[in-house]
Amino acid sequence: MAVKVTPACMGCQACLGACPEEALYMNEDGVCRVIEEKCTECGQCVDGCPVTALELPKVSSAETTVAEATENETVKPQQQDKPAEKAVQLKGELAAYQGVWVFIEQREGIVAPVSLELLGAGRQLADKLGVELCGVLLGDQVSGLVNMLYEYGADKVYLAEHPLLHFYRTETYMKIFVELVQQYKPEIILMGATTTGRDLAGAVATDLATGLTADCTGLDIDLEQRLLLATRPAFGGNIMATILCKKHRPQMATVRPKVMKMAAPVPGRRGELIISEVNLQEEKLLTKVLEIVKEQGEQVNLQEAEIIVAGGRGLGDRENFRKLCFGLAEAIGGKVGASRAAVEAGWIEQKYQVGQTGVTVAPKIYFALGISGAIQHLVGIRGSDIIIAINSDPEAPIFKECTYGIVGDVFTIVPLLIEQLKEKGGILCA
Ligand SMILES: Cc1cc2nc3c(=O)[nH]c(=O)nc-3n(C[C@H](O)[C@H](O)[C@H](O)COP(=O)(O)OP(=O)(O)OC[C@H]3O[C@@H](n4cnc5c(N)ncnc54)[C@H](O)[C@@H]3O)c2cc1C
Ligand code: SF4
Ligand code: SF4
Repeated sequence: MAVKVTPACMGCQACLGACPEEALYMNEDGVCRVIEEKCTECGQCVDGCPVTALELPKVSSAETTVAEATENETVKPQQQDKPAEKAVQLKGELAAYQGVWVFIEQREGIVAPVSLELLGAGRQLADKLGVELCGVLLGDQVSGLVNMLYEYGADKVYLAEHPLLHFYRTETYMKIFVELVQQYKPEIILMGATTTGRDLAGAVATDLATGLTADCTGLDIDLEQRLLLATRPAFGGNIMATILCKKHRPQMATVRPKVMKMAAPVPGRRGELIISEVNLQEEKLLTKVLEIVKEQGEQVNLQEAEIIVAGGRGLGDRENFRKLCFGLAEAIGGKVGASRAAVEAGWIEQKYQVGQTGVTVAPKIYFALGISGAIQHLVGIRGSDIIIAINSDPEAPIFKECTYGIVGDVFTIVPLLIEQLKEKGGILCA
């Protein structure tokens, strides 16, 4: 048996890279096909298909019963492989794991905003469970950040400082993080779904052999079972899946920046500091940082923007895109964003792309100019306070999601808007 490709396949090729066995290929007609002998039915490709064209073979009821029985049985020692020994698999031991941890990501002493957002979300989870909220801060000379973490909601901070933690390296950060988990046993660990957070979370979860839900957009607690309910878009954003980690601890999740609300800091709030010993020797490390090269060119930080003017294929060409999008953004004091279609057309660089494979944004106002509102775009803008759509097609899906919609031609409406805004001296965001 192998994964099945249904006629819904539109040939986007998104699944090819997801398959670790190289079991998928595109045939001459541009349709995905499976090499049955190679497919292990691991299911990794299924999630990546935006049109649900991939299906895993159905498990027969007999097989299901066996699977359920295995789930409920105690895992026998001989069934455990070495990393699995590190994780908790027995129900009785779950209670030993307590507390909600947030990995505090920092670079050159600046805390990533997502870590503060997660302290806000983590506070709510910890309060529901009646446990402590802890920040885990790793780095070199970063102790000056500790008080800020208490002010943003942490009851306790685990601090590990060492010159070899100056730059993020998977190896060093994972080692220290795993040691802390084994010593202090948290039940939940949250990390930002940034490049660093995604890398570290995967490494830590693998080493601990526990469950990780990546790229969550919602977190809650099932109080009866004391379980983390980690919700994330699946099947290219077409459904929301809530994922549980029933028998392993800690329960881990990465969360997209700008999805959770940062709590208001409480000046002067203090907590407990636990300083961890760090034993690291450069000569024993496999990875070396030779040089840090900072990206040249304009810095784009759409996640922090209060107003975004995004353009799509409806703007026609590069020149119009730049005239209308940049023109309106300048008149209103906003930043420019783009749909993937505009990026793929070469009108603007990829770092401006908003959506599932771009950035998730949450501005006060999001303008969608000539953007249809495909699900992969919408998942990146749902946190916006106000969405204003301008589109000539009244049936465009963006109109189902927007706060204000104008059915009309961008080439007529946007220049008028720019003119009016310039006359009135733009608007100021409160
Ligand atoms: C795995 C995967 C991941 C993806 N990730 C992303 C992502 O991160 N971000 C993203 O944006 N897309 C993503 N996509 C692509 C997405 O599915 C859409 O193809 C894309 O968002 C369409 O971009 P668009 O709205 O600019 O173009 P179109 O869908 O072509 O829409 C153009 C719109 O402009 C309107 N229009 C045309 N002329 C005018 C005019 N003169 N005035 C006003 N309106 C006009 C049309 O009515 C139409 O609604 C992804 C797709 C896949 C398969
Ligand atoms: S189920 Fe796994 S092995 Fe099979 S095609 Fe999909 S990713 Fe490849
Ligand atoms: S991701 Fe889905 S639609 Fe795209 S090629 Fe693969 S099976 Fe076809």
